[in-house]
Amino acid sequence: MIKKIALLGSTGSIGTQTLQVIKDNKNLYKVQSLVAFSNVEILSHQAKEFGAEYFATISNDGIECLEKAVDGVDLVVVATRGMVALKAVLKALEQGKTVALANKETLVCGGEIVKEYLNKYTGKIYTVDSEHSAIWQCLEGNKKSQVKRLVLTASGGAFRNFSIEQLKTAKAQDALKHPTWDMGSKITIDSATMMNKGLEIIEASYLFDIPQEKIDVVIHPQSIVHSMVEYEDGSVMAQMSNPDMRLPIQYALSYPDRITSNVSQLDLIGKKLEFYAPDYNKFKCMKLCRKAFEMGGLYPAVLNAANDVCVEEYLKDKISFFDIPDVIEKVLQSYQIKEQMTVDGLFAIDRKVKEYTKKLINGEITIV
Ligand code: MG
Repeated sequence: MIKKIALLGSTGSIGTQTLQVIKDNKNLYKVQSLVAFSNVEILSHQAKEFGAEYFATISNDGIECLEKAVDGVDLVVVATRGMVALKAVLKALEQGKTVALANKETLVCGGEIVKEYLNKYTGKIYTVDSEHSAIWQCLEGNKKSQVKRLVLTASGGAFRNFSIEQLKTAKAQDALKHPTWDMGSKITIDSATMMNKGLEIIEASYLFDIPQEKIDVVIHPQSIVHSMVEYEDGSVMAQMSNPDMRLPIQYALSYPDRITSNVSQLDLIGKKLEFYAPDYNKFKCMKLCRKAFEMGGLYPAVLNAANDVCVEEYLKDKISFFDIPDVIEKVLQSYQIKEQMTVDGLFAIDRKVKEYTKKLINGEITIV
């Protein structure tokens, strides 16, 4: 049976690669609805090419269009930015649909609510994050109770080999020449600060119901091993492939089946696979993520909102590389949470923390 798909965030990197996967497998998947943020031109071209019955942009039609797009489909691919698709994700879960999730914020910020929905309704979340897809695959056929630890691999980002001195003056432009994966500018900076990996720790904890103490990070510059699972008996399962997001995308679409793909075949002959411990003094964001997650409740949402602003300001050359963790830490320490863990509470805190962070950066707030 052909799976009807809603693709939220169709014009971004994951969105366009999802369409490639669907194009290669027209006998299996049909695009029912498409939502983009604002690029009407590309969106209408996509809608025409794939025969989408519904398409809309968030900037013209409001965020309600994301929820509308979920109607009448079997599977929802979430490749939007930020928390914008949270309500659509919850609606899909409530309707017993599968959500192929390429977005981190939904779980990092709304993980508690999402978990509630997963327990209450029959909907499922299939991850489209490459590391988490690897872990998912390494868990197949094994008992989660016998997992000793998860090992998330990280490319190390553009600044992997920079010294502390070099990092002090490292510019966002330098980071945008990322070595391995082709990503948007936000994720590229998150990768350079290793915030991305920190957020992935939280994401993994929610996805696999494993405490963060059992989740480690290892630097693997070649991005061939996408992550690993170590079991009680000392056996380590790893998932490997050439880095290509189409693979985790199609695994989430085809699960439990594996289908042929156009991903280039992995040839390990003559390849060197390296693994290093991450340097937490250079890349403090990872620790901040662990801390925010430990603080619990809405703190991961506070961290995420503060980071969003820091990345924006870093991209504009307004703050330095080390200002990013410094500002985030200050926000975590000083922001007074008044909101509740609800969808509205999450949106409110996201807005307020962003304002607060901007004021902090502009020197309109000082913390003693
Ligand atoms: Mg990832």
